[in-house]
Amino acid sequence: MKTKIYQTLEKYFHYTSFLDHQEEIVSSILSGEDLCVVMPTGAGKSLCYQLPLLMKDSYGIIVSPLISLMKDQVDSLQEKGIPAAFINTTVPMAEQFEILRRTEAGKVKLLYVAPERFQTPSFRSFLSSHVPETLIVDEAHCISQWGHDFRPSYLKLGEVLKEYNIPQVCAFTATATKIVREDILSQLGRKDMALYVAGFQRPNLAFSVKEVSGAADKNLQLARLLKKKLPTIIYTSTRKAVEQLKEEFDCIAYHGGMSDAERTAAQERFMNEEAPVLAATNAFGMGIDRPDVRQVIHYNIPGSVEAYYQEAGRAGRDGEKAECILFFSYADRYTQEFLIDMNNPPESMVHKVYGVLRAEYKKTSSPLIQLSHSEIKEKIPDMKNDGIVSACLSILEQNNYIGRAYESDPSVTLRLVGDMELLAEKNALENTQRSRFVSRFLKKYGKRAFLEYKYSFMELSSITSLSVEQIKRVLHALQGECLQYTLPFRGRTIELLKPDEASLQIDFTPYKQKYEQETGRLEDMISYANTRSCRQAHLIAYFGEDSLWKCGCCDHCAESIAVTSRRKLLTQDELDSCHVILLAVKAFRGRLGRGRISQILAGKRSADLVNAGYTENACFGILASLKQNGVLTYINALEEEGFLQTTGDSRYPCLGLTDKGRNFLADGCKGPLTLNLSPEKKTSSPVNKRKFYGKKYY
Ligand code: ADP
Repeated sequence: MKTKIYQTLEKYFHYTSFLDHQEEIVSSILSGEDLCVVMPTGAGKSLCYQLPLLMKDSYGIIVSPLISLMKDQVDSLQEKGIPAAFINTTVPMAEQFEILRRTEAGKVKLLYVAPERFQTPSFRSFLSSHVPETLIVDEAHCISQWGHDFRPSYLKLGEVLKEYNIPQVCAFTATATKIVREDILSQLGRKDMALYVAGFQRPNLAFSVKEVSGAADKNLQLARLLKKKLPTIIYTSTRKAVEQLKEEFDCIAYHGGMSDAERTAAQERFMNEEAPVLAATNAFGMGIDRPDVRQVIHYNIPGSVEAYYQEAGRAGRDGEKAECILFFSYADRYTQEFLIDMNNPPESMVHKVYGVLRAEYKKTSSPLIQLSHSEIKEKIPDMKNDGIVSACLSILEQNNYIGRAYESDPSVTLRLVGDMELLAEKNALENTQRSRFVSRFLKKYGKRAFLEYKYSFMELSSITSLSVEQIKRVLHALQGECLQYTLPFRGRTIELLKPDEASLQIDFTPYKQKYEQETGRLEDMISYANTRSCRQAHLIAYFGEDSLWKCGCCDHCAESIAVTSRRKLLTQDELDSCHVILLAVKAFRGRLGRGRISQILAGKRSADLVNAGYTENACFGILASLKQNGVLTYINALEEEGFLQTTGDSRYPCLGLTDKGRNFLADGCKGPLTLNLSPEKKTSSPVNKRKFYGKKYY
C-alpha cells in the first residue's frame, strides 16, 4: 500500500515526499477511519484528502463553502489529470447533469459541492442512488456557532450523513478551539471521530507584539518596517483605515467595499509585483497564496486568536523566515470592547426601544413608524448611541417584531406662504427654477397650495419639470421666504409587525452567549498580546497542540536567548565590582534604594547627594567608570541571582542583602560566579581598591 501511495503522490501531484503529518492522515483516510483534522493554513491539508479519494474505488464529495475557489481548485486538479469536478450555482444545468452522469460512470472521483447543494431535489435523488464512500467537510469550523465563520447551511451535514448512510466522514479545518472541535464532532453526529491536531508550529515565523501609543506611533513603526521593501500584508479592522494607509504609504488597498474588478486588480498586483505592500481588511486572504510574504503586520488587534493565527499564517508559506507583528495599543482594546458592547445591547434596551416604537404607534395609529435611530435614542435617556439603537432594532427584526424597508418614494411636507395673487404675478415669467416651481405649483393646486400637504418628489417633479435634485435646491432657497417645508424621513421606515403585542417574548439566551463569546475571544487575544512566554507556544496551545515547545524566534524567545547569552563567568575585576556593591548595600543597612546606591557608587554629584553628605562617603564614585547604568546592571544581576533583595514598602523600596548575599560577602566574594551582564554595558571594574578597602566608609 505504501508504495502505491507514493506512486500516486508522484504521478499526480509530482511530489516525491510528504509534508509533515500528511502520510499519516492519508493512510488513516484510506483505512476508512472518520477523522477530524486540525492543521493550519499552508500545512497541505488538501492533498491529505485529495490523494486518498483518488485512490479509493468509489467517489468522494468535498463540501466547501467557497464557491469562488472551487473552480480554481478543480482546474488545478484537472491539469494534473485528476478526475475532479464541481457543481454549484455558477454551473449551467445541462453541465451539472453531465457531471453527475460522469460521476455515476466512475469518471469523477472528487466532486466539490457547496453545502446548500444537499437541499436541491436533483442532487438528493442522485445521492440516494449513488452514495459517496467518503464525505470531506472542508473549512469544518463553519459548522460551529462558536467558530468565527459560522454558516447555517453546514448544520444540515449531520442529517445528510445519516440520511444517506455515508460510510466515512473527514472534517478539515485550520482553526478550531476545543469547543469548536467538540462541536464539529457533535454536529456531524460522529462522536468517535479521531482527532488529529498537528502542524501549528511554524518555526520560520517570528511573532512579536509592538506596544504602540496611538495612530501616529503606529505609522512611525510601520514606516520603519516598510523600509525593508518586502512583500507585506497589513491587516486593519476597518475599510477606512485601509484607505488611510493607502494614502499615507502608497500601498495597494483591498477591502470588501471595492468593486470586483478593483479587488481582482489589487490581487493581481499583490501576486505579481516584486515587493508589494498591501493594506487589507480581513476580506483578503482566502485562497490567495503568495508563498513569499515576509511580513504580516496587524495594524489593529483582531477579534480572535483564530482569525489572528490564520491571517498571520499567510506569512512565510515558503518556509523561509518571516515576521508576524501585532501592533497593540490599549485604545484598540477599548475600541473592540466598545464595538462588542454596541453590537450586543442589553435586554433592557431592546425592551425600551420596543416601548418607543409602540408609543409612536399609539400616537399615530399607524404601524409604519418613521423615527430615525437618533430620534429613538433621544427618547431613551440612558441610550448611549445610535449604534445600540440599530442593534436593538436588528434583534426585534430577527424575532419578527418589526420589518424594515427603505423609503422608495421619499416625500416632503410643504405649503406656500404669502399672498396668492402676488406670488402668481411675481413668478409668472418662470424665468428661474424657483419661479417655475412656485408658478406651476400654484397653478396646479390653487388655494390648496397654502395648506400643509405631503407631496412625493416624483409628483413635484412631474408638475414642475424639475429634477428631484433641482427641487431640493429650490425648496432650500425658498424656505421661509414664500414656502415652508419639512424634510422627508431619511431613515428606514419601521413596520410594527405585531403592533398589539405590548411585551416582547424573545429568548435572549443566544444573544447573551454571543456577547460572552465575543468578549471571551477578545480576552484571549489580549492575553496573547500580554503573554510573557513564547508567543508561538501560546498560540499553538490555544489550538490544542503541545505547549512545551518553544519557537526560539519570537520577541520573548529572542529576549530570553539574549539574556542567556549575556550570562558570563565573571573576571576578577567584575567580582570586585560585585564585592563593592554588596559591601555598600550592607553599609547602608537597607535604608537606600537601588537608584540612590547606584548614584553614589557611580559618583553622581547631584544637589541631593551633596546636601545629604553622600559625596563625602568613602564609596562615593568608587565605580565611576561603570556609570550609573552599569552599576544598575550589576545590582539587577545580583538580585536576579539571589544575593540582593528589595525591602521596605512599595513606595520606598530599598535594597538589602539576602542570606546568600551575606554568606557570599562573608567568604570574601570569591568566584567562580556567573551572572547575566549585558555585553553592551561596560563590565570592567576599576575599583580603587586601596582607597576603598582601607577605609571605614559609613
Ligand atoms: P492548506 O489547505 O493546509 O492551507 P494547501 O493544501 O493549500 O494547504 O497546501 C499548501 C502548499 O503546500 C501548496 O502550495 C501545496 O502545493 C504544497 N504542498 C502540499 N503537499 C505537498 C508536498 N507533499 N510536497 C510539497 N509541497 C506540498
